[in-house]
Amino acid sequence: MTDPGSGREEPAGTSSSAVMKGLRCRCPRCGIGPLFGSYLTVADRCSHCGLDLSKQDSGDGPAIFVIFILGIVIVPAMLLVEVKLEPPIWVHFAVWPVAVIGGALALLPPMKGLMIAMQYKTEASEGGRVDYD
Ligand SMILES: [Zn+2]
Repeated sequence: MTDPGSGREEPAGTSSSAVMKGLRCRCPRCGIGPLFGSYLTVADRCSHCGLDLSKQDSGDGPAIFVIFILGIVIVPAMLLVEVKLEPPIWVHFAVWPVAVIGGALALLPPMKGLMIAMQYKTEASEGGRVDYD
């Protein structure tokens, strides 16, 4: 199967979009092999199709996405809770740090996967375009 975005040959059975492959933290080419060797460490190669992932570097992009998403969700939630429920201040100190840290830890891998999938799809790299394989 040929990827319509990049024109590269891809293994059969990989019809999901690059976005979904990235959000699922899977290889941007086959969508089957895991993208990460550990929590946020990108694997050197895809264990399924062998795609070289060692040159992938998403930089600070995933953190920016996470900051924006959490800011859009958490800040209005904080304000809503304060206005509607008027809880004691300790409730805010107990709830919101956990929500922010937990949300950041949960969102970082899929956002990093998304960035890497988009970089693969557009053949982008830090120094310009990169050839895979
Ligand atoms: Zn793969």
